[in-house]
Amino acid sequence: MLSPCPGCGALFPPCDGATHRYIGASAGCWALFNWSVVGGGIDVTNLIAQSRIPDDLAPIPEPGDALPLDSLWGDAYGVQHHGGSSPQAIQSVALHLLNLHGIISGQTTRPRWPIERALRIHGVFHKLNPPAIGRALTYRHLFPGGGVVTPVTHSQYAVSVYEAWMTLHRSVVEQWYERYVVSE
Ligand SMILES: [Zn+2]
Repeated sequence: MLSPCPGCGALFPPCDGATHRYIGASAGCWALFNWSVVGGGIDVTNLIAQSRIPDDLAPIPEPGDALPLDSLWGDAYGVQHHGGSSPQAIQSVALHLLNLHGIISGQTTRPRWPIERALRIHGVFHKLNPPAIGRALTYRHLFPGGGVVTPVTHSQYAVSVYEAWMTLHRSVVEQWYERYVVSE
Protein backbone atom coordinates (compact mmCIF):
# COMPACT_ATOMS: atom_id res chain seq x y z
CA MET A 1 0.00 0.00 0.00
CA LEU A 2 1.69 3.22 -1.16
CA SER A 3 0.86 6.65 0.18
CA PRO A 4 1.86 10.06 -1.16
CA CYS A 5 4.37 12.22 0.64
CA PRO A 6 2.54 15.41 1.69
CA GLY A 7 5.39 17.57 0.41
CA CYS A 8 6.32 16.15 -2.97
CA GLY A 9 3.62 13.60 -3.79
CA ALA A 10 6.05 10.72 -4.40
CA LEU A 11 4.49 7.41 -3.31
CA PHE A 12 6.20 5.42 -0.58
CA PRO A 13 5.40 2.19 1.27
CA PRO A 14 4.70 2.39 5.02
CA CYS A 15 7.90 3.18 6.90
CA ASP A 16 8.39 3.42 10.67
CA GLY A 17 11.31 5.79 10.46
CA ALA A 18 11.35 9.19 12.10
CA THR A 19 9.95 12.32 10.51
CA HIS A 20 11.27 15.85 10.89
CA ARG A 21 9.72 18.22 13.39
CA TYR A 22 8.67 20.83 10.82
CA ILE A 23 9.81 19.64 7.39
CA GLY A 24 6.66 18.09 5.92
CA ALA A 25 7.97 14.84 4.45
CA SER A 26 6.53 11.35 4.88
CA ALA A 27 8.70 8.86 6.78
CA GLY A 28 9.67 7.07 3.56
CA CYS A 29 10.59 10.23 1.68
CA TRP A 30 12.54 11.55 4.67
CA ALA A 31 14.43 8.23 5.00
CA LEU A 32 15.51 8.42 1.37
CA PHE A 33 16.63 12.04 1.72
CA ASN A 34 18.50 11.32 4.96
CA TRP A 35 20.25 8.38 3.43
CA SER A 36 21.48 10.72 0.67
CA VAL A 37 22.73 13.25 3.20
CA VAL A 38 24.45 10.99 5.68
CA GLY A 39 25.02 7.91 3.52
CA GLY A 40 25.43 4.34 4.74
CA GLY A 41 23.60 3.05 7.80
CA ILE A 42 20.26 2.15 6.37
CA ASP A 43 19.54 0.08 3.28
CA VAL A 44 17.26 2.01 0.94
CA THR A 45 17.23 -0.60 -1.84
CA ASN A 46 13.75 -1.82 -0.91
CA LEU A 47 12.50 1.69 -0.30
CA ILE A 48 13.57 2.70 -3.81
CA ALA A 49 12.22 -0.50 -5.37
CA GLN A 50 8.82 -0.11 -3.71
CA SER A 51 8.31 3.62 -4.20
CA ARG A 52 7.28 5.61 -7.25
CA ILE A 53 6.90 9.13 -8.55
CA PRO A 54 3.49 10.85 -8.72
CA ASP A 55 1.44 10.22 -11.84
CA ASP A 56 0.69 13.83 -12.66
CA LEU A 57 4.07 15.21 -13.60
CA ALA A 58 5.53 18.56 -14.48
CA PRO A 59 7.84 18.91 -17.50
CA ILE A 60 11.45 18.30 -16.54
CA PRO A 61 13.61 21.42 -16.82
CA GLU A 62 16.83 21.60 -18.75
CA PRO A 63 19.86 21.13 -16.53
CA GLY A 64 21.53 24.29 -15.27
CA ASP A 65 24.85 25.34 -16.82
CA ALA A 66 27.96 26.17 -14.84
CA LEU A 67 26.14 27.37 -11.74
CA PRO A 68 27.09 25.49 -8.56
CA LEU A 69 23.63 24.04 -8.31
CA ASP A 70 24.66 20.73 -6.88
CA SER A 71 24.84 22.30 -3.46
CA LEU A 72 21.20 23.31 -3.62
CA TRP A 73 19.26 20.07 -3.52
CA GLY A 74 18.93 20.17 0.28
CA ASP A 75 17.41 23.64 -0.01
CA ALA A 76 15.03 22.44 -2.69
CA TYR A 77 13.99 19.51 -0.51
CA GLY A 78 13.33 21.86 2.42
CA VAL A 79 11.18 24.19 0.31
CA GLN A 80 9.23 21.40 -1.33
CA HIS A 81 8.50 19.77 2.04
CA HIS A 82 7.09 23.00 3.35
CA GLY A 83 5.30 21.49 6.35
CA GLY A 84 2.64 23.31 8.32
CA SER A 85 2.17 26.90 9.35
CA SER A 86 4.47 26.94 12.37
CA PRO A 87 6.94 29.83 12.61
CA GLN A 88 9.81 27.35 12.12
CA ALA A 89 8.27 25.89 8.95
CA ILE A 90 7.60 29.35 7.51
CA GLN A 91 11.12 30.53 8.33
CA SER A 92 12.65 27.36 6.90
CA VAL A 93 10.83 27.65 3.56
CA ALA A 94 11.75 31.33 3.26
CA LEU A 95 15.46 30.83 4.02
CA HIS A 96 15.89 27.88 1.68
CA LEU A 97 13.97 29.62 -1.10
CA LEU A 98 16.12 32.76 -0.70
CA ASN A 99 19.23 30.62 -0.95
CA LEU A 100 17.93 28.98 -4.14
CA HIS A 101 17.01 32.39 -5.51
CA GLY A 102 20.36 34.04 -4.77
CA ILE A 103 22.39 31.34 -6.46
CA ILE A 104 20.11 30.27 -9.33
CA SER A 105 19.46 33.89 -10.35
CA GLY A 106 23.22 34.53 -10.24
CA GLN A 107 23.12 37.25 -7.60
CA THR A 108 25.67 35.45 -5.46
CA THR A 109 27.97 32.47 -5.88
CA ARG A 110 28.41 31.94 -2.16
CA PRO A 111 26.39 28.97 -0.95
CA ARG A 112 24.38 29.68 2.21
CA TRP A 113 25.24 33.39 2.17
CA PRO A 114 21.57 34.37 1.62
CA ILE A 115 20.59 32.15 4.56
CA GLU A 116 23.14 33.69 6.87
CA ARG A 117 22.02 37.18 5.88
CA ALA A 118 18.32 36.45 6.26
CA LEU A 119 18.90 34.82 9.65
CA ARG A 120 19.67 38.27 11.05
CA ILE A 121 15.96 39.05 10.99
CA HIS A 122 13.12 37.18 12.64
CA GLY A 123 9.40 37.04 12.16
CA VAL A 124 9.18 38.91 8.87
CA PHE A 125 8.28 36.06 6.55
CA HIS A 126 4.81 34.74 5.90
CA LYS A 127 3.45 31.45 4.68
CA LEU A 128 3.75 30.88 0.92
CA ASN A 129 1.14 28.58 -0.56
CA PRO A 130 2.88 25.66 -2.23
CA PRO A 131 2.51 24.74 -5.90
CA ALA A 132 0.22 21.80 -6.60
CA ILE A 133 1.71 18.33 -6.25
CA GLY A 134 3.18 17.24 -9.60
CA ARG A 135 4.32 20.72 -10.64
CA ALA A 136 7.94 19.92 -9.77
CA LEU A 137 10.28 16.97 -9.80
CA THR A 138 10.52 14.97 -6.57
CA TYR A 139 13.59 13.67 -4.83
CA ARG A 140 12.45 10.18 -5.92
CA HIS A 141 13.22 11.28 -9.52
CA LEU A 142 16.94 10.88 -8.77
CA PHE A 143 16.54 7.11 -8.60
CA PRO A 144 15.57 4.69 -11.38
CA GLY A 145 12.40 2.60 -11.41
CA GLY A 146 8.98 3.47 -10.00
CA GLY A 147 8.10 5.42 -13.13
CA VAL A 148 11.55 7.00 -13.53
CA VAL A 149 13.18 6.07 -16.83
CA THR A 150 16.17 8.40 -16.69
CA PRO A 151 17.07 9.62 -13.21
CA VAL A 152 17.43 13.39 -13.00
CA THR A 153 20.42 15.22 -11.56
CA HIS A 154 20.52 17.08 -8.26
CA SER A 155 20.65 20.33 -10.28
CA GLN A 156 17.56 19.48 -12.29
CA TYR A 157 15.70 18.69 -9.11
CA ALA A 158 16.75 21.97 -7.47
CA VAL A 159 15.83 24.11 -10.50
CA SER A 160 12.50 22.36 -10.92
CA VAL A 161 11.41 23.03 -7.33
CA TYR A 162 12.70 26.61 -7.52
CA GLU A 163 10.82 27.36 -10.74
CA ALA A 164 7.57 25.88 -9.45
CA TRP A 165 7.66 28.14 -6.38
CA MET A 166 8.85 31.23 -8.28
CA THR A 167 5.99 30.92 -10.74
CA LEU A 168 3.67 31.61 -7.81
CA HIS A 169 5.77 33.88 -5.61
CA ARG A 170 8.39 35.67 -7.72
CA SER A 171 7.61 39.21 -6.61
CA VAL A 172 7.50 38.30 -2.91
CA VAL A 173 10.77 36.38 -3.07
CA GLU A 174 12.51 39.19 -4.97
CA GLN A 175 11.28 41.69 -2.40
CA TRP A 176 12.44 39.53 0.52
CA TYR A 177 15.82 39.09 -1.13
CA GLU A 178 16.24 42.86 -1.57
CA ARG A 179 15.11 43.68 1.94
CA TYR A 180 16.48 40.91 4.09
CA VAL A 181 19.48 39.54 2.18
CA VAL A 182 21.00 42.39 0.19
CA SER A 183 20.32 45.46 2.32
CA GLU A 184 22.42 46.21 5.38
ZN1 LIG B 1 8.57 13.94 -0.25
